[in-house]
Amino acid sequence: SLFGLPGQAAHERVLLAADEQTGLKAILAVHSTARGPAFGGCRFWTYDNELAALNDALRLSQGMSLKNALADLPFGGGKAVIIKPAGHFDRPALFAAFGRAVESLQGAYITAEDVGTTTADMLGMQAQTQYVSGIPRAGAFGGDPSPKTAWGVFVSIQAGVRLQLGRESLEGVRVALQGLGAVGWHLAEFLHKAGAKLVVADVDAAKVARAQAELGAQAVGVLEILKADVDVLAPCALGASLNAQTIPQIRAQLIAGAANNQLATVEDGDALQQRGICYLPDYLVNAGGIVSVAREYRNEGEESAVMAEVSRIGERVAELLERVKREDSTPARVADAWARSKLVKPV
Ligand code: NAD
Repeated sequence: SLFGLPGQAAHERVLLAADEQTGLKAILAVHSTARGPAFGGCRFWTYDNELAALNDALRLSQGMSLKNALADLPFGGGKAVIIKPAGHFDRPALFAAFGRAVESLQGAYITAEDVGTTTADMLGMQAQTQYVSGIPRAGAFGGDPSPKTAWGVFVSIQAGVRLQLGRESLEGVRVALQGLGAVGWHLAEFLHKAGAKLVVADVDAAKVARAQAELGAQAVGVLEILKADVDVLAPCALGASLNAQTIPQIRAQLIAGAANNQLATVEDGDALQQRGICYLPDYLVNAGGIVSVAREYRNEGEESAVMAEVSRIGERVAELLERVKREDSTPARVADAWARSKLVKPV
């Protein structure tokens, strides 16, 4: 339903923004401003049709509400999707038009990078709107949030390996990485440094070759990565990779990755639990990037303080696993209820 599924809050506001001159077709979804202005990145992507883009924007923005709440940020949840125009387009002009759409919401939504958008896009938009973050700043932290996202996923894997697999270190732990993009690559480097053994896949062969050469990674095909014989699976490509087809084939005992909306449905979280696989919810573990752009936007903190805040994601993973034991439920369901209980103005 466009107005939310039963038991889920509907979106407060959804803007369809079109601009004939630049070819802009964007969806700006404000899910919740209960905690503060809706904050979430902008995806620039090719979609099969407009409904698919709308569905993506609605799902992603709801996820941002949960993510920002669990990360204790004073922001609500929102997300934007720009449908990539077919054929030639003027990128700066397109993002300028998008910036005007963001500005028209008068601060109800703040944007930043997501899949397909860059720091240059955010920088270019600054002339149109003040409601943008993820911009490099001289002498201060800021810009590309992906290293911070990767760090949050890394500390989550550390916590999960310790608490679920009973191993104190990542030395020799086998990790499968699906996607070696902005986040996946940084995560691969952190894991390699900690002594993990990597199995990787990406549709981009050059990234895979680099991981083999620089990180001693084993390469497998994109259809094989979810079935790899590993301890940990880290989905870092796109959403819905954990579904009725893939779950029976997964051999990892722990799943923690950057990709948003990894579970195709909430029941897929139950299916993982039934198979004895611990799934750490994406919006809990991948909050490092939003912590970074949110602090940058508020001009708060220094690099070390932001990194310390991102490291606290590991503590939240431990708390989640405690709650799961207490409530005899699944991590996905417990995290969802925990986040929803925080969809109120922070005191
Ligand atoms: P990216 O576009 O830089 O990387 C994605 C990578 O996945 C690319 O290298 C791409 O070639 C690869 N890929 C695509 N389809 C694949 C497939 N079927 N199998 C294997 N590899 C495939 O994006 P990113 O910024 O690294 O983000 C990755 C995921 O993490 C996205 O879902 C994004 O929404 C989420 N995320 C990113 C951030 C961030 O800070 N960048 C923050 C939170 C969540």
